[in-house]
Amino acid sequence: MNTTDYINLSEKVLTPNYGPRETIMVRGEKEFIWDSEGNKYLDFLSGIAVVNLGHCHPKVTEAICKQAQLLPHCSNYFLVQSQIELASLLCEHSFAGKAFFCNSGAEANEAAIKIARRYSVLTTNRTDRFEIITMKNSFHGRTIATASATGQEKIQKTFEPLLEGFRYATYNDIKSVESLVSDKTCAIMLEPIQGEGGVIPATKEFMIQLRELCDRKKILLIFDEVQCGMGRSGKLFAHEHFGVTPDIMSLAKALANGFPIGAMLSRTEIGEVLTKGSHGTTFGGNPMACAAGVAVMKAIYDEDILQNATEKSDYLRDGLSKSLSGNKHVSQITGIGMILGIHLDKTGFGIVHDCAKHGLIINCTANTVIRLLPPLIATFEDCDYAIEMITKAINTESNFE
Ligand SMILES: *Cc1c(COP(=O)(O)O)cnc(C)c1O
Repeated sequence: MNTTDYINLSEKVLTPNYGPRETIMVRGEKEFIWDSEGNKYLDFLSGIAVVNLGHCHPKVTEAICKQAQLLPHCSNYFLVQSQIELASLLCEHSFAGKAFFCNSGAEANEAAIKIARRYSVLTTNRTDRFEIITMKNSFHGRTIATASATGQEKIQKTFEPLLEGFRYATYNDIKSVESLVSDKTCAIMLEPIQGEGGVIPATKEFMIQLRELCDRKKILLIFDEVQCGMGRSGKLFAHEHFGVTPDIMSLAKALANGFPIGAMLSRTEIGEVLTKGSHGTTFGGNPMACAAGVAVMKAIYDEDILQNATEKSDYLRDGLSKSLSGNKHVSQITGIGMILGIHLDKTGFGIVHDCAKHGLIINCTANTVIRLLPPLIATFEDCDYAIEMITKAINTESNFE
């Protein structure tokens, strides 16, 4: 079968939820990816913030291969060394005392929602204290619970009835959060940097006020770091930029650099409420996923990944600011570290398409925001190429038609 045959067959046998796609990707190496026609691309999307260390990172690949030959799966009736090691590394490098593993971001948030409710019931003896305040324009996943937590109508429409118990506040507006807090509130959940919502970082003031509010009302603070965690922001976890720690944090995407995994981390006392039989998942903490995760954690520190992310982010941002300054379509560049958003006055899909034609993969979110999620190993040369291509594409008026 050739490329066209595959595309035609895909339309026949796959659900159309990702829209029509014209490119089949077949191979990746570091920051590059190749399609079935042999075209090479600079991947400044990193599989949507997943392959932070670049494609086929040798240490991660080695860990997966080794584990695949030893014991790919065994169930959580037994302990798995790599699961214990990964939990230990994550706790050592964060506020957390306990880790629960699952297989995706939605599941990590699902676990965060469940543990917040259970903690509330077990510590207050009340069953009516289950509300969670989330933010408008947030994104927490596509399961019914996490779609309900997501403050975006387009994610929820036609899937009702939603799960009850979510209230939506305005991001970076403490008054809006305060107005929704009641004696039914058990948690507040947000992304330290909104990703799908248009690359909007929280303000430091908002984060500090949230922490203070939560402490005062004995409400749990949950950070969804599925997209902005694991070095994406230039620090291991994005909340480190604000000097504010959560009680619970969800991780997924880049945690195993492409191998499916999710994690819900919490303070020890909160983690303790997931007593025997209260929660679980068959694949959670899978030996291969955790071996990959351990390799990722080691590589982040052994290979100075955070330093590189910060250095290249500054370079990329400065370069884009200069080359796009004065462009009437660009209002601002937002983000922290290697999650950057170029805010346009029109839809950015034409720009994304034009860049792909010229060998650069980026994406457009919230309709009008060009989102850059470069691998954290990107070089100055990669940044120069991206700046040149993006600037050319935004300067081409026909890309907005
Ligand atoms: C991607 C994402 C999720 C959902 O993760 P899945 O692995 O797709 O279920 C949740 N929260 C945030 C912030 C995300 O970016």
